[in-house]
Amino acid sequence: MDAAKLKFKPMDLLIPTAALVVAVVILVLNFTREQPSEKWAEVRIGGQTVAVLPLDENTEAVYEAGGGHNHVTVQDGKVLVSAADCSTQVCVRSRAISRVGESIVCAPHGLVVTVVGERTETVPDLIVR
Ligand SMILES: [Zn+2]
Repeated sequence: MDAAKLKFKPMDLLIPTAALVVAVVILVLNFTREQPSEKWAEVRIGGQTVAVLPLDENTEAVYEAGGGHNHVTVQDGKVLVSAADCSTQVCVRSRAISRVGESIVCAPHGLVVTVVGERTETVPDLIVR
């Protein structure tokens, strides 16, 4: 009788413990793979950082760059150039970015928006042509 009880108890604990371990592992994997806890959109004009916008706050800002304007919008954890008066409109057509290391480049204005986060060191300077 005692032996049976002893066998029972560890088994009862094993399942919730295992479930917990699995849950924690999934959480940690998602966390490290998907998103660092803090991410920012770094706005640079002519190689100089002019703004660092947290991606978890919806914001809109207009930057004067290269004789024109770039409208940068942060929405739902992503950043995009929503409007610009540059000649190519490549930056406006670029998709919203949210992953560390991704960039939107407005070559005519020399403006670069890069997602930075705790996983990366300072992103090496991009050469914009
Ligand atoms: Zn542009």
